[in-house]
Amino acid sequence: MSTTIELNNTAYKGSISVKTNLFIDGKWVDPAKPDTIDVVNPATGKKIATVSVGDKADVNLAVKAAQKAYKTSWGLKTPGWTRGKLLLKLADLLERDQDQFAALESLNAGKPFHVAKAADVAGSIRCIRYFGGWADKIHGSTIETTEQRLAYTRHEPFGVVGQIIPWNFPLLMLSWKVGPALATGNCIVLKPSEMTPLSALKFCELVEEAGFPPGVVNIITGYGLTVGVAIAEHMEISKVAFTGSTLVGRKVLEASARTNLKVVTLELGGKSPSIIFDDCNLEQTIKWVLQAMYGNMGQSCVAGSRVFVQEGIYDEFIAKFTPAVKALSQATGDPFHPDTQHGPQASQVQFDRIMGYINAGKEAGATVHLGGDRHGTEGFFIQPTIFTDVTMDMKIVKEEIFGPVAAILKFKTEEEVIALANDTVYGLSAYVYSDNTARSHRVAHAIESGSVFVNLAQYTDAAVPFGGYKSSGIGREHGEYALETYTQVKGVHINLGMII
Ligand code: NAD
Repeated sequence: MSTTIELNNTAYKGSISVKTNLFIDGKWVDPAKPDTIDVVNPATGKKIATVSVGDKADVNLAVKAAQKAYKTSWGLKTPGWTRGKLLLKLADLLERDQDQFAALESLNAGKPFHVAKAADVAGSIRCIRYFGGWADKIHGSTIETTEQRLAYTRHEPFGVVGQIIPWNFPLLMLSWKVGPALATGNCIVLKPSEMTPLSALKFCELVEEAGFPPGVVNIITGYGLTVGVAIAEHMEISKVAFTGSTLVGRKVLEASARTNLKVVTLELGGKSPSIIFDDCNLEQTIKWVLQAMYGNMGQSCVAGSRVFVQEGIYDEFIAKFTPAVKALSQATGDPFHPDTQHGPQASQVQFDRIMGYINAGKEAGATVHLGGDRHGTEGFFIQPTIFTDVTMDMKIVKEEIFGPVAAILKFKTEEEVIALANDTVYGLSAYVYSDNTARSHRVAHAIESGSVFVNLAQYTDAAVPFGGYKSSGIGREHGEYALETYTQVKGVHINLGMII
């Protein structure tokens, strides 16, 4: 089964074909129980494709295929340099097809094409290439115990790992998962979000072309409550990596506890603070705050959605931030238009959820300083929104909105803002703006989050660990740390002549 999407716009002209059934054991197969889901373009609200929907039986087949591949043609059977070579080939193919992938991300997730290409696709290429480089550099160490005994460690793959990803960065989240899992020798059963499966399906075509053995990568499109649960509960899956909401992350952890105690890593939600001190470079800071807050239409786990501004600079910040957000509002529209900076929210469900939060903010007495409504008449567009007169107890300050809605708060001292910034169940990211080096470091150290950006926003890098403190997650992606979360360590003890 396949679909062909015709595009004819300034950014992309041509057709893109996508195979739309399940990718199991290196073959494109129909689900055991025939079912499909419509894939929607969030800029128009109209259907763009229909893809297969899998079920538990398909997950079982995929796990079997992955196990076979692990034992015969991957895992400890394949040297690291071979795995690395294939990953590097995969990165090259992704680079070759970058425009197609950017177009699919635009079409299916509403991202401005140029942003999808420069951020999502480029980040994915970098990630796969980075982990390709690691594949033959994973090793244990020797440990001296006594003269008659030698011990050493081996960093072994888990075997079959399950991976469940969200819709906000469909290709990027897939790459963050696939790169380290394959580099370390694991085989994969991955479920993309039911809302954004197109780039993951297209990616499987590259997996085939690169020459990965059948069964090493299996991708099952489908719903969380069927495919997701089947992965989380599977007795033959030894590790699950999940990215998504904190609510579902808890369920994945519970499923592990109920079944085989599989290792679970979680990349979850956030409510990250942007902290603006009165000694910052305001012109630059405004640009970073804008990016941290409204990048990906606010649908970013690291969105800097609680904006704390020091009182001495508050009025000037509002005076300069407002026109910057207005300009973003004016650059809202067709994701394929070269001038577009702000696209639609990814789905009707997400649109409704965000509008619900905007209403909650209004009802709680916060002031809509800018935006606060839908943009246009078709698709799922929401105006970039600023709330002022907010208090820490309001829902719009406490909960992750996952949309283009900033809450601006005033603070007096460094000590106060550290306490306010840490007053959240989340701990994914934070942004600190100050030209005082000592203060920047002090605050970066005091913030309870897995990442802190100083005078910068949202530039994650495949080489730098990424993950959450508190309810934002367990484990780390990226860097050497990701290799640890995809391997288990074995200690081997050798007798060098000890007699008893
Ligand atoms: P979600 O939790 O609703 O879904 C994520 C994935 O889990 C989807 O594939 C979904 O089908 C699946 N799923 C749903 N119910 C399931 C269940 N019971 N068992 C197993 N799988 C199930 O999240 P979403 O709406 O797709 O994405 C938004 C969330 O993702 C936000 O909270 C955001 O902060 C988070 N996120 C975090 C990171 C990070 O790296 N920390 C990155 C991107 C997104």
